[in-house]
Amino acid sequence: MTIHTENAYHNAQKQFDIAADILNLDGGYRRLLRVPHREFACNFPVKMDDGQIRIFTGYRVQHNTTRGPAKGGIRYHPDTDIDEVRALAMLMSWKCAVVNIPYGGAKGAVVVDPALLSLGEIERLTRRYATEISFLIGPDIDIPAPDIGTNAQIMAWIMDTYSMHRGHTVPAVVTGKPINIGGSHGRNEATARGLVYILREACEGANISIAGARVVIQGFGNVGGTSARLLEEMGAKIVGVADRGGGIANTKGIDLRQLQAHYDKTGTVAGAPGGDTVSNAELLELPCDILIPAAIENQITARNADRIKAKIVIEAANGPTTPDADTILHDRGVLVIPDILANAGGVTVSYFEWVQGLQEFFWTEREVNAQLERIMVNAFEQVNTVAQARRMPLRTAAYLLAVDRTAQAYITRGIYP
Ligand code: NAD
Repeated sequence: MTIHTENAYHNAQKQFDIAADILNLDGGYRRLLRVPHREFACNFPVKMDDGQIRIFTGYRVQHNTTRGPAKGGIRYHPDTDIDEVRALAMLMSWKCAVVNIPYGGAKGAVVVDPALLSLGEIERLTRRYATEISFLIGPDIDIPAPDIGTNAQIMAWIMDTYSMHRGHTVPAVVTGKPINIGGSHGRNEATARGLVYILREACEGANISIAGARVVIQGFGNVGGTSARLLEEMGAKIVGVADRGGGIANTKGIDLRQLQAHYDKTGTVAGAPGGDTVSNAELLELPCDILIPAAIENQITARNADRIKAKIVIEAANGPTTPDADTILHDRGVLVIPDILANAGGVTVSYFEWVQGLQEFFWTEREVNAQLERIMVNAFEQVNTVAQARRMPLRTAAYLLAVDRTAQAYITRGIYP
């Protein structure tokens, strides 16, 4: 599958432009928010297990820090590039503003396929990348988190590397850490749990019952896999799942336990028993009520949007729908719940983790989930109210809220000097 058929950064700017036009945003603030504030790129060496030195390219982009320190994940993926990182950093600014947590947006990446590296190589790569970006990150500056290809262990190595340089432990420099070194209960499931809260609210409004709903999920990682489990617990029927290796479909519902066992053995859902083989392209067009793209960007485009059969598309992934596809889906009456709202549960619980780390006072999982639910439901209501009142798609409404909150923060602070 081709990943970069579209330029993610240009698409992010197009989406911003729609909101900026409606808001009649002043030219200066518009130009400011349309581009990243800071960009950093580096080429750095890593000693591989066979003694060879390989050079990797890494990025960290901070889109905006007006509403608070920059916040955003680190992606390890072979096809990532600076434009993808710029787009994702911008999305993070809007996402934090939509759920109204005091952060700006950032994103980082290393061009690497971690599946091809040993654990030792990944650790050395991570510690070197953390060192390269160490002058840009910190609890008050920029706080990384996991994204595609990275996980809690990688966050632990970044936290440890940063702490070694400072000479003392700094837990709040990253979120998504393991619990035993300052991670938050509920962080692993937070993105999927937040997504399910939003989906529940949207389904209520659309008169769709989650119990019995047919759900298709692209991506079976942290977000896709957890969403599948949570939705199955609520009585939904998972009728299609795919990941990088391919997918399976079964109109009667896929047995998730059997699927998980196959995944644990092989590292992919492709070839799992209990379903027919489908490609990623076929998966997206399966008949279903709810489609959850939970993998990578640009999966629903002008080429396949008119064949999407779901009633609701809820974007677990960042940027899975192109602006052209958005228009087609909207015209066809498909409800699209945008990434900056739908997957904001992850950064919200990251925020809780950061607060807990700064205070060194830790919450129970029940407390985390209750606060998460409050923030997600509140954000959905605010976005939905704007969408209904102004008869616009949820994405445009979410962007309006986010861009306006960020611009207003700028205006209140003023331009230095
Ligand atoms: P992950 O690495 O745990 O899982 C990614 C999944 O996507 C895997 O199943 C992988 O096989 C699949 N995938 C990768 N490339 C693919 C391709 N070309 N075609 C089909 N499937 C492919 O990552 P994750 O944390 O679950 O993140 C998934 C998406 O959710 C990403 O877009 C990420 O930015 C977004 N997201 C994640 C979080 C979080 O807290 N983890 C928060 C907000 C948004």
